[in-house]
Amino acid sequence: MERLTPRVGIGQIAPHKPMIRLPNGGRPLIDLSLSHNALGPSPRSITAYRQAAQNLHRYPDGEHTALRMAIARRYDIEPDHVTCSNGSDEMIQIVTEAYAGPGDEVLFHQYGYHGFIKAARMTGATPVIAAERDLAVDVEALAELAGDRTKIVFLANPNNPTGSYVPAEQVQRLRAELPAHTLLVLDSAYADYVRRNNYDPGFDLVSDHDNVLMVRTFSKLHGLAGLRIGWAYGPPAIIETLDRVRPLYNVGLPAQAAAAAALGDLEHEEATLAHNDSWSAWLSHELRAIGVRVYPSVCNFILVRIPPDPTMSVPTLSQHLLDHGILVKSLGHYGLPDCMRITIGTEEENHALMDALREVLD
Ligand code: PMP
Repeated sequence: MERLTPRVGIGQIAPHKPMIRLPNGGRPLIDLSLSHNALGPSPRSITAYRQAAQNLHRYPDGEHTALRMAIARRYDIEPDHVTCSNGSDEMIQIVTEAYAGPGDEVLFHQYGYHGFIKAARMTGATPVIAAERDLAVDVEALAELAGDRTKIVFLANPNNPTGSYVPAEQVQRLRAELPAHTLLVLDSAYADYVRRNNYDPGFDLVSDHDNVLMVRTFSKLHGLAGLRIGWAYGPPAIIETLDRVRPLYNVGLPAQAAAAAALGDLEHEEATLAHNDSWSAWLSHELRAIGVRVYPSVCNFILVRIPPDPTMSVPTLSQHLLDHGILVKSLGHYGLPDCMRITIGTEEENHALMDALREVLD
C-alpha cells in the first residue's frame, strides 16, 4: 500500500524552526529577531481589544466591514477595493492560491521576503528568482524573467530582510513591462516607515491598472503583530476573487476591533516613526564604529554584515548575544551567512545590544 505523503513540493518548504531557548529554559529577554514595533500597540487598540473580549463567544464579521471602512476612510479609497486577512502572510498565500498553480510560475527577487517562496510551493507553482544587485532589487532582471507562464510577480517594497527599496519610477517601469496576464503584487508591509520622496507604496498604481495589488499589514507601524491582521487594496475584481478564496471568518473579532482603533491614533504612529528614525540612526552609527557593515535601511530593522574574522562567525556572535539574553536573526537560510537582521528595539534594548557586541567586536 502506498504511504500517505504530502503533495509534491511541500517537502521543499522550509520547516518551522524550533523556538530558541536560553540555557536556563527561558525565552530571550530581548527579542530583536522579528520586526515588531518596539513601542507596542496604540492604547486605543488595547482598549478596543478589551471591549471586544466581551463578545468572544460570537463569530467575527466575516466581511470585516467596519475594518474595511476604517481602512478606506484612512487612505481615501473605496471599501470594496479592500479585503483583510490573518496577517499579510495569509494574504500572500491567498493571492497565490487564487492566481497560480501547478505549471505556473511565481516570480520574485533573490532576497525577497521568504513568504513568497513558501506560497509558491504551497500552491504547486514554480518559484522563479531574479538576481539582486548589492542586496537591492534589479527590476530589469525581474522584467526579463516574466513570460507566458508568469502569473504573479511579488515585489517586497521595501524588502525584508535587506531593508532596501525600489524607487517609484522603477516600479512603474516594471509594471509597464509585465505581460497583461501577470499580477504585480506590491508587498508594502514597511511602507509606513519610508521617508523618501521617490518612494510610493502603490495606491496610484493599483487605481490605474487592473493587474496590480498592494498588500499591507498591521504588524509593523501599528504594533499588532500578535493579533495577525493584514489587508490588500486592489481592483474590485481581484478583491472579489480573494474573498472567494480566503477562509471565512479569517480575522478574529478582537483583531478587527484593535486594527480599526489603531488607524485613529496618529500620535502613536508619529511616535513610532520618530523612535524608529532616531534609534535606527543611532544603532547604525554605533555598529559602524565597531567595524560592522550596515546596509542602508528604510525599515524598522537593519541588515548588518559581520567583518571577516575566523574566530567570530555569525553563529558564534549569535550565541554570544544569546548568552546575554539577546536574540537577533541570522540570515544563513537566505544565503547571507555573514549577515544578521537586527530589529530596532527600545532604548534599553538597543543599548544592551551594543554593550554585548562591543565586548567581542570592539
Ligand atoms: N511581508 C513582509 C515584507 C514581511 O517582512 C512580513 C513579516 N515580517 C510580512 C509580509 C508578513 O507580516 P504579517 O503576516 O505579520 O502581516
